Amino acid sequence: MKKILFVTSEAHPLIKTGGLADVCGSLPKALTELLQDIRLILPNYQALKASENVRFLTSIRIDNRNINILETLMPDSQVIVWLVDYPAYYNYPGNPYVDEQGEPWSNNAERFGLFCRIVTEVAMNRINQDWQPDVVHCNDWQSGLVPAFLSLEEGRPSTVFTIHNMAYQGLFPLTSASVLNLPGQLWHPAGLEFHGMLSFIKGGLVYSDYITTVSPTYALEIQTAEFGYGLEGLLEHRKEFLGGIINGIDLDQWDPEKDPNIFQCYSAKTLGKKLLNKTALQAKLGLPIEEHIPLFGLIGRLVEQKGIDLLLDCFSEMITMKLQFVLLGSGDKVFEKQLQEFAELYPDKIAIKIGYDEALAHLIEAGADAFLMPSRFEPCGLNQMYSQRYGTVPIVRKTGGLADTVIDALPETLGNQTATGIVFNEASPSALLEAIKRTLILYSMPDSWKKIQVNAMGKDFSWQRSAKQYLELYQKL
Ligand code: ADP
Repeated sequence: MKKILFVTSEAHPLIKTGGLADVCGSLPKALTELLQDIRLILPNYQALKASENVRFLTSIRIDNRNINILETLMPDSQVIVWLVDYPAYYNYPGNPYVDEQGEPWSNNAERFGLFCRIVTEVAMNRINQDWQPDVVHCNDWQSGLVPAFLSLEEGRPSTVFTIHNMAYQGLFPLTSASVLNLPGQLWHPAGLEFHGMLSFIKGGLVYSDYITTVSPTYALEIQTAEFGYGLEGLLEHRKEFLGGIINGIDLDQWDPEKDPNIFQCYSAKTLGKKLLNKTALQAKLGLPIEEHIPLFGLIGRLVEQKGIDLLLDCFSEMITMKLQFVLLGSGDKVFEKQLQEFAELYPDKIAIKIGYDEALAHLIEAGADAFLMPSRFEPCGLNQMYSQRYGTVPIVRKTGGLADTVIDALPETLGNQTATGIVFNEASPSALLEAIKRTLILYSMPDSWKKIQVNAMGKDFSWQRSAKQYLELYQKL
């Protein structure tokens, strides 16, 4: 049994802004089921949805500040959670990182710097709990200073740092470094300094014993200038200690056989019933109810990363084809407006829902025939896995986790029962259009289409599978 201190700035269902929370909610649970001894540690935000059972654990004094550590359990699980309670820094309303205007909280460096200091004390068993972890597993920039601080300690635990998205690095002006009173040994270009700024993520990249990211392909991509944001050289230098482990999905929440959000439950054996979700979705979104017209779906943040601009460039041609398209998402206002304009012009073909709607997301996964993910980059991606589990054929660009989880339908992969979707290479409207056309051809061949659906539905995307890989890594360290 390993003792693991799992460090994160968000974990579903306690607090969530994105995919990071899904991973940090699920992975500790899966590791607990593998009988490991885990403590999840995160800041005690105002918006945190803990159960009533929160108790005082201990308090520590750092830099003339008294900080409490509280203990609770993850809802519906046995995972022990330690909350770093320092109201002056964490008792803010709403989002953990940004204010109501979407601007980063002005003292984020101090907020997460203090968090990292406390985690270091916990990791070194200096909080009177007689619990010393074997491994400290940090996630994204908010916990990046932990491996750096620990590198200065004798008899420290091993450290793992997981990158969920290289685009977020925790860069702060030089002055923050002095405010945080960083040890001088860490403050140089081969340490925490990045072009005269303080880089939290570099703490993880430089000082952790092992770096993981959320797919093997993304682990390679971030070693290139296109995806590395200036840190590709460092990552390449550390490539022996860098690997990718695909995220799992929550198989209970995303189960077409018992999903309360969909119109009709179904399985690979009763795929015919999937059609009832398609017509329900068409009805709900005001599209003509047409069983045989292929329905394409897309759910996600409407940002360039997700290739929304590529899709917009395809619309004028797509509306000449025999298909329907539904989209649920929010993000860039320019994209939102353009999408809505198309929907108004072509209400028989295109339905756009701007907003965040968990239930509708499930119905789209169940009701669409095919699911579009033309991402420019995608560290792991979840929707392509949900889609496969729901027998909804994903159309993905060959990048990151998309490349690792979807197998292109080619004569060979159709023959050996491994095809699970459509994969295209180039991030261009023409390549996307080509993939859509290929999808339409496959859709017109019911036997092949069904084969893809059934192959996809049989794949194992469980957290158990990923957790075992993390555990192997912990053991290796
Ligand atoms: P990212 O973390 O880059 O946004 P992922 O695919 O890893 O992308 O995870 C996004 C998750 O958020 C998925 O579960 C997706 O279904 C969900 N999601 C994104 N936008 C919406 C929305 N507008 N309504 C409902 N769910 C959404």
